[in-house]
Amino acid sequence: KLHNTILELKGNIRVFCRVRPLLPDDGATDTTVISYPTSTESQGRGIDLLQSGQKHPFTFDKVFSHESSQQDVFVEISQLVQSALDGYKVCIFAYGQTGSGKTYTMMGRPETPEQKGLIPRSLEQIFQSSQYLVSQGWKYKMQASMLEIYNETIRDLLCTNRAGCPDSSATGKQYTIKHDANGNTHVSDLTIVDVCSFKEVSSLLHQAAQSRSVSKTLMNEQSSRSHFVFTLRISGVNESTEQQVQGILNLIDLAGSERLSKSGSTGDRLRETQAINKSLSSLSDVIFALAKKEDHVPFRNSKLTYLLQPCLGGDSKTLMFVNISPDPSSVGESLCSLRFAARVN
Ligand code: ADP
Ligand code: MG
Repeated sequence: KLHNTILELKGNIRVFCRVRPLLPDDGATDTTVISYPTSTESQGRGIDLLQSGQKHPFTFDKVFSHESSQQDVFVEISQLVQSALDGYKVCIFAYGQTGSGKTYTMMGRPETPEQKGLIPRSLEQIFQSSQYLVSQGWKYKMQASMLEIYNETIRDLLCTNRAGCPDSSATGKQYTIKHDANGNTHVSDLTIVDVCSFKEVSSLLHQAAQSRSVSKTLMNEQSSRSHFVFTLRISGVNESTEQQVQGILNLIDLAGSERLSKSGSTGDRLRETQAINKSLSSLSDVIFALAKKEDHVPFRNSKLTYLLQPCLGGDSKTLMFVNISPDPSSVGESLCSLRFAARVN
């Protein structure tokens, strides 16, 4: 059997796998579908999935078992987050079926310190480090925006003129994506807020979460059907050394990757599923083309990849989390997720 080793993505793209603990709601009593090889070679990097008696081995840059804490995970990404302050463009994605732990990984439960996810931890670190750098003569301007992409349509989550700003038809806003000559992305009409502290940005996160739940009720849908994109733009200047940096940190909670049963999907639901499939497969195509250093990278095939284009190519840095549920009834979806990440289909 072919060993599904992730391509040697040593450069700027890495893939981490995270398995969440079994939950009471899973209704399962064992997690024997997942095991971790103990050979020294793949220690901490391998995961084996057992389906109908067949073992599927995978290797990633890192594998976090159900025992890994939010802090354990953050330790492994804190350097990457730091590089946004050094002027890099960084994207961190969470991919997986609904219920696999994407939102827990990205946002966590912010009200419980140990359970805070990567977004609050990253922002805390950025503001802490920037304070130190300010004492070294640096000045920073930080700007946050938050949007979601649903059915290939952008929604501004920080828009204040109408509760939830459910879509452009309600506000007349266009949210057109443009890239300028300097490789910066502009989304017309998108709200961009200057932020000076972790407290400010965390209140924006709260606002975005509310606006997300309002629009989801208005539009009669679930947040698991949309991509959530948090962006922090960092511009730094050091007046004494005349150095300048322009970094971007994108933190993305992707729509659920589950395949809906073909029979159950009609009308709006079918359209929604097609839009999600399209953008997730475009994302995979883009990352694959970048990893193989192909000349043509199909950024324009979806809103998500077009939006993130400047932050995915060049010397930017990308990390993809593949979130996995240990529930034996999810083994089919888990295999799809692992294969998506390993891109061996
Ligand atoms: P998703 O965003 O992929 O749909 P969630 O992040 O909402 O999944 O996770 C589903 C459930 O599992 C939530 O109740 C969440 O709190 C819980 N959960 C996910 N990952 C973990 C983890 N590593 N430790 C504890 N609970 C987790
Ligand atoms: Mg979620």
